[in-house]
Formats: sequence, C-alpha cells, structure tokens
Amino acid sequence: MFAGMRNKKASQTAGTSTAVEDYLERILELINSKGYARVIDIAAALKISQASVTNMVQRLDAEGLLKYEKYRGLILTGAGKKLARRIAQRHNLLTEFLRLLGVDDRVIHQDVEGMEHHISPSTLRAIAALTQQLRHRPALRARLQARPA
Ligand code: ZN
Repeated sequence: MFAGMRNKKASQTAGTSTAVEDYLERILELINSKGYARVIDIAAALKISQASVTNMVQRLDAEGLLKYEKYRGLILTGAGKKLARRIAQRHNLLTEFLRLLGVDDRVIHQDVEGMEHHISPSTLRAIAALTQQLRHRPALRARLQARPA
C-alpha cells in the first residue's frame, strides 16, 4: 500500500465510507448469528449482486479488515472486528436514544441506518451522555413521549 493512502486512511478512521461501514456491520451480524459470513449471505443482506460483494470483500481484504477465501467464506481480522464492533455499538446507542425518545421502532431502524454513517464523534458523545441521562429519568422520558403525533 502507498504511504499516502495509509496516511489518508489513518486520518479518516471516523470517516470510513458508508459502504464499508454497511459491509462490516452486516458481516459482523452474520458471523454473530450464523457463525460465518459468505458472499451469498452478504449479497442477500445488502440486496446487491454477489459480484459487487466480491469486489468489496477483496478491497476490505487488501485493507486488512478481513480475510477472504473463496470457498470458505471470510473472517474479520482484529482491525476489522474492532471497527465492526464500533459500528455496532454506535448503531445500538442511536437505537436506544431514539427508543428513549419514544420514536416508533420501524422508524428507528430506518433512521439509524441513515444517521449512523453521518454522525461525528463529538455529536455521538453528546448523544451518549444524553442517553445516559434519559435512562435514569423516567419522568422526563414520559414527558418527551407524551408529545402529540
Ligand atoms: Zn446500522
């Protein structure tokens, strides 16, 4: 890998592309639920062609985030796992935050899938702090959730 690319990547940890984040998120989900992630399963989960998945998987392999073997599926490397877990934690935090605000579950999922890729670390920390407060304040939650539709 070129030194320039490595630098760019290092400074963009928080700015990993939406596509890469979606892949890592789905791959971790598949591994957690089925024990493995195959190209065919990822393609189904992301609703895209297997050829596109293969391309991206090869890219993620080149970036050191996973190891891909054509017939045995793939595994996340240490770096891939770390990133995927951070993505999953962020997803869970945003889900809990919206739930505490009383947002409808179907809306929550849709919103989180969009929000999670565009939120800055500082906003996320602020939401984490607010979520922590909301957890312990049922009266405040009740007031928030009593808003008109
Ligand atoms: Zn998500």
